[in-house]
Amino acid sequence: MYRYETHCHTLYTSACSRLDAVTLVRLFLENGYDGVVVTDHFLNGNTTVDRSQKWEKQIDDFFIGYEKVREEGEKRGLKVFFGFEYSYRGTDFLVYGMGREFLKAHPGLLSLGTRAFLSLARESGALTVQAHPYREADYIDHIRLYPSDAEGMETINAARDERCNRLADILADEYALLKTGGSDIHVSSQKFLSGVETETPLESIEALVEAVRAGRAKPFLQENRFVR
Ligand SMILES: [Zn+2]
Ligand SMILES: [Zn+2]
Repeated sequence: MYRYETHCHTLYTSACSRLDAVTLVRLFLENGYDGVVVTDHFLNGNTTVDRSQKWEKQIDDFFIGYEKVREEGEKRGLKVFFGFEYSYRGTDFLVYGMGREFLKAHPGLLSLGTRAFLSLARESGALTVQAHPYREADYIDHIRLYPSDAEGMETINAARDERCNRLADILADEYALLKTGGSDIHVSSQKFLSGVETETPLESIEALVEAVRAGRAKPFLQENRFVR
């Protein structure tokens, strides 16, 4: 089986992460992964990007985390794909298959509103997954669910609040939504990891999206075996 991380954060682009490219790539290789999707907090989330710059420059800066991990992954043999985590007041969506040119061409993206954004993503062919849909935390005022707008639910989040994951699984079943697993990793000491596993290797983010849509990528949970 081939394992892919679908939800991870770098210190270059996510203000809350402490993971540099060397550590991140080592961690996933040591845990037997074939690839990772870097999903830093987007420009409406906990980003390091200077939001006073022109939109195109903000997008280029946003790619720095992904680019650093990709460069390191190429050296060490880990596939690295681009994604991002879109935020609306603590309600988060993982977005896969929306690339740099599309983002640059849509400078009004963040004034669209969440449902219009999810609908645009769908039209563009990108996959949206609501992250840890039932999480409760200080930074989240209340739980908001988008089962008719997002295409999938993160039914395993390795932060491992069992109840959140169970409820997400029920929601996904009831609405016939896609299911993914993600580590949501910010520090190398996190106890558990997640992701999706496939029987054949994936060579691009489009292939990963296709595998999730076809039910060929199954969420899993494993212990983090990374030795610091
Ligand atoms: Zn974060
Ligand atoms: Zn996250």
